[in-house]
Amino acid sequence: MAELLVVGSVALDSVETPFGKVQEVLGGSATYFSYSASFFTQVRLVAAIGQDFPEAHLRLLQDRGVDTQGLQASEGRTFRWVGEYGYDLNEAKTLDTQLNVLADFRPKLGEEARRTPFLFLANIDPELQLDVLRQMRERPRVVALDTMNFWIHGKEEALRRVLAKVDVVTINDGEARQLASEPNLIRAARAIASMGPRTVVVKRGEYGALMLAADTFFYVPAYPLESVYDPTGAGDTFAGGFMGYLAAQERVDAAAMRRALVYGSVMASFTVEDFSLKRLTRLKPADIADRYTAFHDLIRLEP
Ligand code: AMP
Repeated sequence: MAELLVVGSVALDSVETPFGKVQEVLGGSATYFSYSASFFTQVRLVAAIGQDFPEAHLRLLQDRGVDTQGLQASEGRTFRWVGEYGYDLNEAKTLDTQLNVLADFRPKLGEEARRTPFLFLANIDPELQLDVLRQMRERPRVVALDTMNFWIHGKEEALRRVLAKVDVVTINDGEARQLASEPNLIRAARAIASMGPRTVVVKRGEYGALMLAADTFFYVPAYPLESVYDPTGAGDTFAGGFMGYLAAQERVDAAAMRRALVYGSVMASFTVEDFSLKRLTRLKPADIADRYTAFHDLIRLEP
């Protein structure tokens, strides 16, 4: 079992979906990622929080064994994101982004963190993603990255630089089209692969996830759910399952990558069943195993 390092956002999210509304609940790309990955392997979290960040949120992560020593608290307010979804839960509409402590965040990696073999650069300013990559003592075995429209718009040049240095990118379908300036998703995935990463995972919400690796496509549908309340964090939870599984196996061959894609989908299918991390906090390892089996049955050709 190898260790996994993540740098990303820790947030207080306010979210409205057709099924409810929450104010300033625990969120953030690194939060969902590390909580999800903690079911598979040892996770170190590097992120910024403000003085207003509730202790209870911290304990939630620590109770899952997440190493929070890399959480840098500073004067000021925690990052806040305000978003909304219509009945089409695949598309988040950002109403407000308050960077707050993220605006001046400079990640400082401890000596141990700098040697972590699996690294996930969760959705955050690409300049910070580059900064973390620079601090690694040796090239990690796998570096994966996620991003979103906010950074594709605002920091495209830095994003291109970091993309050239990673092995895997996970990205939403809309954002893949935007990054590649290409409406066709297959072409968009190929175009992103040509920017550097040898594996491109396109997340398609309720339509599943598509992976392009070594010129071969693999596709996993989303788990068919009757009750979806809030898709926030699905992408990061997916990445947590994906990277967590790879780090736990210490394998990155084609078979492991395919199974990792299924574990990512399994984890994401839980997150959307409630707001914030509520469903994940009730999750048992047996639930993950059961849903993995259910996925297997879902996509198996022979009955
Ligand atoms: P997703 O997994 O794609 O649904 O990501 C949801 C999380 O991304 C939310 O919990 C937000 O706090 C976080 N987020 C939203 N905008 C940004 C941003 N510009 N930078 C970093 N994190 C963000």
